Amino acid sequence: MPRNPRCCPRPSRRSTWKDSLLDRHEELAALDRDRALVPRPRGERCVREGTTWVHLRTCLTCGHNGCCDSSPRRHARAHFGADGHPVVVSAEPGEAWRWCWVDDELG
Ligand SMILES: [Zn+2]
Ligand SMILES: [Zn+2]
Repeated sequence: MPRNPRCCPRPSRRSTWKDSLLDRHEELAALDRDRALVPRPRGERCVREGTTWVHLRTCLTCGHNGCCDSSPRRHARAHFGADGHPVVVSAEPGEAWRWCWVDDELG
């Protein structure tokens, strides 16, 4: 610990800002490698129907992966229409919101 906590920490000669940028870069590259190993959810109905999706939403009731309203087939909404399961969560990495079809709002 520095004696005076108000002092800005000076980078030591062994670790420059360039080094820390490189470290950060390595870290992110490692994260990407890890993420690539995790199987991404797929829009099963899109795959079956030969279409693609923009983003996926996972049904909280049954785990169905449907595509969002920006996708051509809107399977997440169709799943609500067919089965009445009201709440989906984003299946996209880094997104942690829920959507309620009944109220058409984030919840
Ligand atoms: Zn779909
Ligand atoms: Zn469902």
